[in-house]
Amino acid sequence: MNKKFAVTKEIFFKEVSSYISDKKALSLIEKAYFYVEDKHKTQKRNSGEPYINHLLNVAYEACLLKSNPKTIASALLHDVIEDCKVEKEEFVKEFDLEIYNIVEAVTKIGKLKNDFKDEREYQAANHRKIFLAMAKDIRVIIVKLLDRLHNMRTLEFMPVEKQKRIADETLNVYAPIAHRLGLATIKNELEDLSFFYLDLDKYKEIAKLVEIKKNERDSQVKVMIDDISKLLTEKSIKFRIFGRSKHLYSIHKKMTTKHKRFDEILDLHAIRIITETKLNCYEILGYIHAFYKPIPGRLKDYIAMPKMNMYQSLHTTIVADSGRIFEIQIRTEEMDSMAEKGIAAHWSYKEGKKYNQKSEQESIKKELAWLTVFDEENLENENATSFMDYVSNDVFKANIYALTPKGRVIDLPAGSIPIDFAYRIHTEIGHQTVGSKVNGVLVPLNTVLKTGDVVELLIDKKSKPSEDWLKICKTNNAKNRIKSYLTKKDLELKQSYAKNGENIIKEELRKRDLDVDEFLKVDKLEELSKNLQLSGVTELLYRVAIKDINIITVIDKLTKVKKADLDLEQLSINLAKAQNKRKKVVSKSGIIVPGIDTLKINLSSCCSPIYGDLVIGYITKGLGVKVHRKNCPKIKETKERLIDVYWDEYIEPNTKFEANIKITSIDRNFLVTDLITVVSQHKGVLLNISSILNREKLTVLTKMTIVIESISHLENLIANLKKVNSVIEIERVFK
Ligand code: MN
Repeated sequence: MNKKFAVTKEIFFKEVSSYISDKKALSLIEKAYFYVEDKHKTQKRNSGEPYINHLLNVAYEACLLKSNPKTIASALLHDVIEDCKVEKEEFVKEFDLEIYNIVEAVTKIGKLKNDFKDEREYQAANHRKIFLAMAKDIRVIIVKLLDRLHNMRTLEFMPVEKQKRIADETLNVYAPIAHRLGLATIKNELEDLSFFYLDLDKYKEIAKLVEIKKNERDSQVKVMIDDISKLLTEKSIKFRIFGRSKHLYSIHKKMTTKHKRFDEILDLHAIRIITETKLNCYEILGYIHAFYKPIPGRLKDYIAMPKMNMYQSLHTTIVADSGRIFEIQIRTEEMDSMAEKGIAAHWSYKEGKKYNQKSEQESIKKELAWLTVFDEENLENENATSFMDYVSNDVFKANIYALTPKGRVIDLPAGSIPIDFAYRIHTEIGHQTVGSKVNGVLVPLNTVLKTGDVVELLIDKKSKPSEDWLKICKTNNAKNRIKSYLTKKDLELKQSYAKNGENIIKEELRKRDLDVDEFLKVDKLEELSKNLQLSGVTELLYRVAIKDINIITVIDKLTKVKKADLDLEQLSINLAKAQNKRKKVVSKSGIIVPGIDTLKINLSSCCSPIYGDLVIGYITKGLGVKVHRKNCPKIKETKERLIDVYWDEYIEPNTKFEANIKITSIDRNFLVTDLITVVSQHKGVLLNISSILNREKLTVLTKMTIVIESISHLENLIANLKKVNSVIEIERVFK
């Protein structure tokens, strides 16, 4: 823990000039430096060093965050009001009111007198003060955090009792704030330093265990990194990859709060992959899941659903062939910088860009929505402890803890309702819940639970879960259990439909003069259902019955199964036929216009026809034939200039088409990941994807543009997308 941080004047100014070259900005920083060097010249730190060293360190850290020139000046000046008794008038004359206000606010936070009855009350009051300052100007808290960071680094020179108090406050007040602002690097160091002073024995014990395991761990991580690197290089994705170590306090916290043994935590090797684009992230995730076994329930998509502190990344946990477990984070450079520096990455200084405190503060509030709860003026008058409760409930805890009447604690994500609670207790209890009492009062089942609520469930053994629950439940646990119940019920229903499906297939086979007995065999149907990634023959027949799968596709596939059995002679006859036909292809569009073969043929971009669609040609003035889908709204009104066209049976191999689809689903985590995974599993190429959340209905509308081969390819893909958890409806759209 004895880190030596000797930031000199030279090192500091070198760091400043690494990203600031504006003359005015530089002279402001220089001026602040010489000002505080003079003002504090007779003062020493507890360590015996000149006081200026502290200021240099704080300001240097601000530079590492690429802070604004005024923030750096404030960092240098942060102790001058309190320790040098500089008056407002002089300060404003030397610098300006803006910097004065920052330094004054920093001074005020530190000056809170501890005359509270207990430590918690004091910390609550302090917390509140910091938040109020933060809501006004975020730079105040940045300077304060960096001040505390350096004080913690030099805490060894303080009396033991003071060490404990400061460390305790750092752990309970400053580290959580750093966390909320996404300043992960600073938060981790604050936590480890606090841990060192609060529980030295435990600290040393964990540090030693980590050291012992280090070599073994490093070599395992290296092997994995090499494997993944090889895999991703083959796929020509740009990336960098490295192992990362957990900080000691986080290990300690996991051991105590999650009751895990040291080896259980350290067996989790952590690897991070940084790549170029968001899509690359999902691509990499796809490859890793294809090559290693992912542990169910461990995939976290913080890209689609950023954390409250703006953190974005994909997380997954996989089992390597060796049996080792690896935790993998995948993110872009930008996300990585945000993950390390949080809000500071967001507002880092850019040369030549005019700085506007107001708009910066506005944009920060937009990103950190939770910060706006501190806006209300009336908060200033509220009692500090109740304010603290408010903060810890609404802001710091993403989790809520509700109780059974017998006092068992059930932890749930915020927004959970009694149904989530019921399924957490037992699946059958969930299925049979008909009502709920919260704190003794009968409430609707969609009531959002709060920490401390005592939840009593009303059970009816004959009752069944309702499909509507899927829309109001918060936890995936409840949703999955409801879904699997409904699926089971569904199966019974589907079996009754399957007979219809079978008849449809028979009829179509007869129409084509094909032998029903030969093609409608169970093993053939089984193979086809596997081929279409359906759960079985019943599902296949059911989908045919409800026209969810195109009958043409089914017949094509069923009869194609036969192809392998064709003898060589027949095969060559077929090939010759194909060659003949191919000559008739007049354009790469794959369209034949009977009787004409010199016309220019184009697929219309307004409805993007796909191989297999019902199509019609429109004769343009001098531009040849534009091929539209028969149901294209543009063509529906038209009566003249239309001409019948057909798809060439023998289309050029690798001809691709673009399709646009619209997916409506219930909002949930990882939805987009799941959708993308299905698309890539079915060899669709994703060109474009966008999602819009409907906050009222809690549904998400996702639009995709996909490159595919044919209509049956698209239908197959849509059928499988429909199986994705929480998808309600999929529609192919014109554009
Ligand atoms: Mn200080």
